[in-house]
Amino acid sequence: MSVASRTAPLASRLAALPPGQVDLHTHAIDPDLPDIGQQHEGAFPVVRRTAPDRAQIFMDGRLYREVDDRCWSAEARVKDMDAEGVAAQIVSATPITLCHGEPVDGARALAAAQNDFLSQLTAEAPDRLFAFGCVPLQDPQAAARELRRCVRDLGFAGVEIGTRAGDLELTDPAFIPFFRAAENVGAVVFVHPVDRTLDPRLARLKVGFGLDMSAETAAAAAGIVTSDLLEEVPGLRMLLAHGGGTLPSALARLAKGQRMAGDTDPERLATARARQLWCDSLTYDVPALRLAAERFGPGHVVLGTDYPFDAREQPAGAVLREARDKGAARANALGLLNPG
Ligand SMILES: [Zn+2]
Repeated sequence: MSVASRTAPLASRLAALPPGQVDLHTHAIDPDLPDIGQQHEGAFPVVRRTAPDRAQIFMDGRLYREVDDRCWSAEARVKDMDAEGVAAQIVSATPITLCHGEPVDGARALAAAQNDFLSQLTAEAPDRLFAFGCVPLQDPQAAARELRRCVRDLGFAGVEIGTRAGDLELTDPAFIPFFRAAENVGAVVFVHPVDRTLDPRLARLKVGFGLDMSAETAAAAAGIVTSDLLEEVPGLRMLLAHGGGTLPSALARLAKGQRMAGDTDPERLATARARQLWCDSLTYDVPALRLAAERFGPGHVVLGTDYPFDAREQPAGAVLREARDKGAARANALGLLNPG
């Protein structure tokens, strides 16, 4: 019997959660991640342990990030969660490892290995840790298969994807079967920018973290709310990282552009379609959080912290508390994860 099959179904695990916050934006990495590049063509992450509780992630031959055992120890995570009143974390891969622009064979192997790791990690604390899995998005059919494995076999709540797959945008018709698969199995699709695909100009200006991550999410989401994707897949539950990036402040202008192009149906305007999306609270700022809640709808904002990385909000939920959220984010999270 596999580890995952010993755990209860997602819905009953969520129903039994202790009191506290539900954090949908946290990351992990396997300190013993297989070196996919040894077996397959392409540029894939290499992880090296430097101590029992420390490791380094290399990407494209360069050190990308030093990490510690909070990335792979359920015990370390639960200790921090208890200290900050977090009932549950939904754990997803470290975004730079998504590798949606690399050759398909390696991407398939990498996604499967990361999902097996996430399954083991969450099974160590099945009442507190949940997962968004990985998919080889550049192969939409394989991505749909891996998504179904994540949800049906491993008990995950959904999957994490980047903002594009190589040159393919999320609005490309090739992805409709993938999004329909997510709709069919009730998987949340968490969209997270990848700092490997960022604009070199913004990197030179040293605003990659501050602006480009936000702009990258907004570009993908702007494409979605000005396309027919959400009409094609009306049950899609898509969660945008970082408060939707810069999308909330761009929506009125996007809608004006649609009207100027002759699209006057109020239901098709970006401002209306944005209310079908969800965002996390990781804005570091109450006014930005309030604008996101205004644009996506107050029921569509959930806690996200980027635990355990340097970008994390600490303590978890600080901005929600400052905005007097009073527990709505937890109810929103449970409604998104398990709409019943
Ligand atoms: Zn993140």
